Amino acid sequence: MPTRLRRRLESAALAVADAVIAEPPRVAERSRVAERPRVAEPPRVSTDGHVAAVSADGVTRRYGDGETAVDALRGVSLSVARGELVAVMGPSGSGKSTLLHILAGLDKPTSGEAYIGGRALSGLDDQGLTLLRRRKVGFVFQFFNLLPMLSAEQNVVLPLRLAGEEPDPGWVDEVIASVGLADRRHHRPAELSGGQQQRVALARALITRPSILFADEPTGNLDSKAGHEILELLRSCVASYGQTILTVTHEPRVSTVADRILILADGLIVRELGHVSSSEVRSAIEALEG
Ligand code: ADP
Repeated sequence: MPTRLRRRLESAALAVADAVIAEPPRVAERSRVAERPRVAEPPRVSTDGHVAAVSADGVTRRYGDGETAVDALRGVSLSVARGELVAVMGPSGSGKSTLLHILAGLDKPTSGEAYIGGRALSGLDDQGLTLLRRRKVGFVFQFFNLLPMLSAEQNVVLPLRLAGEEPDPGWVDEVIASVGLADRRHHRPAELSGGQQQRVALARALITRPSILFADEPTGNLDSKAGHEILELLRSCVASYGQTILTVTHEPRVSTVADRILILADGLIVRELGHVSSSEVRSAIEALEG
């Protein structure tokens, strides 16, 4: 195959991979959100002098307009410190996915501001957001989003290839070993169990040493045992690498690994739980579901 054609095909494949790793913005909806002027603001520092890994300030998100408008978020403020593992829970339709998308720069708030590492996301254009996501953000999704034609190891190093960086073999070995996949690195996703596929996705999210790892229902497609192992692995990422994690989940057992649980209902954070039992979390959610 001529070199130019091969390069074109490779770059097309990488563009597809980029979209798989970090879901593209919801284009139809984004166009309805008014563009705000971009101002290069200094990093936002909290009252204790630290820059939060991720934070939100009075974030609202309205879908559509007129009588059919839906207020998915109605003024959410939160701050996740570096090295913290925070879970967002709440009934279906309470705004969890919308919040995650806005914090990750995949969607824009109708009002309010989201920050990563103290940087206001509204100050970034689409290219700036893409670069920020590649360099500072790791994603783990419910359905793993692995590329089926690549081996586990090739999936893991993909974000570095997308960023045009050469993987450091020692770091690749360490990350793959840390998720317990040293003996599966050459297998393709179809040759791995669901739990193993999610481990690959976790290693892929860690490989860029992201400032923040967002996990969207990471145990939602796993059996109870594999789900529990993924939760334990999330915790070990915090312990080993000081990784900051924000996960959206329906799994009450997240309380065994999370530092805090924020409960959303109807677009607002209505409760915050510290170290509580899984049954207390279950009761809190059931009380909201009515
Ligand atoms: P959760 O993740 O907690 O289930 P979502 O953030 O997906 O909640 O949705 C919050 C609310 O916003 C729901 O009422 C949902 O129907 C609505 N919503 C989500 N996405 C869209 C969209 N693209 N267009 C219109 N309404 C939406």
